Amino acid sequence: MRARARAAVAGLALAAALAARPISPRVAVTRRVASMGTTAEVEIVAASREDGLAASELVVSELRRVEDLLTTWRDSPLRRLNEAAPGRDVEVGAELATALRDVLAWAERTGRAFDPTVAPLVRAWDLRGAGRLASSADVAAALAAVGPGVFRLHATRGTAARLHAAAGIDEGAWGKGYALDTVARRLAAGGVRDARIDLGGQQLALGTGESGAAWEVSVADPRERGRGVVTLALSGLSVSTSGNSERGRTVSGVRIGHELDPRTGRPAPDFGSVTVIAPSGLVADVLSTAFFVLGPRRGLELSERLRREGVPQDALFLEDDGGGRLRAAASPSFSRHVTGVDAGAVDGVPAPAASSLTRRESR
Ligand code: AMP
Ligand code: MG
Repeated sequence: MRARARAAVAGLALAAALAARPISPRVAVTRRVASMGTTAEVEIVAASREDGLAASELVVSELRRVEDLLTTWRDSPLRRLNEAAPGRDVEVGAELATALRDVLAWAERTGRAFDPTVAPLVRAWDLRGAGRLASSADVAAALAAVGPGVFRLHATRGTAARLHAAAGIDEGAWGKGYALDTVARRLAAGGVRDARIDLGGQQLALGTGESGAAWEVSVADPRERGRGVVTLALSGLSVSTSGNSERGRTVSGVRIGHELDPRTGRPAPDFGSVTVIAPSGLVADVLSTAFFVLGPRRGLELSERLRREGVPQDALFLEDDGGGRLRAAASPSFSRHVTGVDAGAVDGVPAPAASSLTRRESR
């Protein structure tokens, strides 16, 4: 009897101890590291600090690995391809050759509004330096080395060749998105469910944040990057914003946008910004660039067509109306991601639920 009573008391004590403690503790670990030309912010929610740190290390090492593969700012397999003798097949490895095959296919699918062979144009406008007003002759010369046929790929053999002495691949519009996809795969393989990685204009949100709710992501005012004007709730999705903000150049008082139209060789008209949400980081990154180049009307047409073809994504265009406000135009299902709108700055953001002036309930 006494033994049974003791067991009962011990059982009660154990139950009380368990009740006092959350059944599965969630610890948030945040790290900031210089990566891919930006400050990457990594947030992991895990069962313990050790697990969170280990997962963040996985992210940091994967970002480093992809940067080492794709950077064209220093030596890398992609840079070596860009500097290879024209016509000569060089070893780039199966991963890079496959990634290049995929992004070149995206150039075709976007009617070349996105085109990774844009590097000669980036050079002509000196977008990696102080900027330069390229002449028509500069643009024509660069255009001759841009587009289909300036690279040859053998994805299975892992080789690639430049076919024009000035041809080059620019990773700026797709490298971060590609990296977020490989990070997502590594986290899934490591059993990490809840994470957010922010690479500046490009984010990945997996699972939930510390509170257990979807991750909150803010879309900035294209004229003032520090000001969030639309709030999104995302889980299992990547989000990418393209716009000029501080990334353009000003030469002799003329603003040169860094989003180039590979078909004309000139900076695309600057209307504001476009944000794309997609399960794939690469798709979000590629399409935000393509949609910026196409502008709101043609961008939304392409978004719609791609959805019909089975490419899940949503787009939100924020246009500067010239009168101090922003005008929104979005794909029909964009609203399901929206939880808040700064009604003092932007008109026309679609929201599914009954709304208050500044904040909408998340669903
Ligand atoms: P994002 O911020 O993802 O839109 O990428 C813009 C960067 O990609 C630029 O800074 C250029 O390096 C490069 N780029 C510019 N225009 C294009 C384009 N139409 N297609 C592919 N890459 C581009
Ligand atoms: Mg992009």
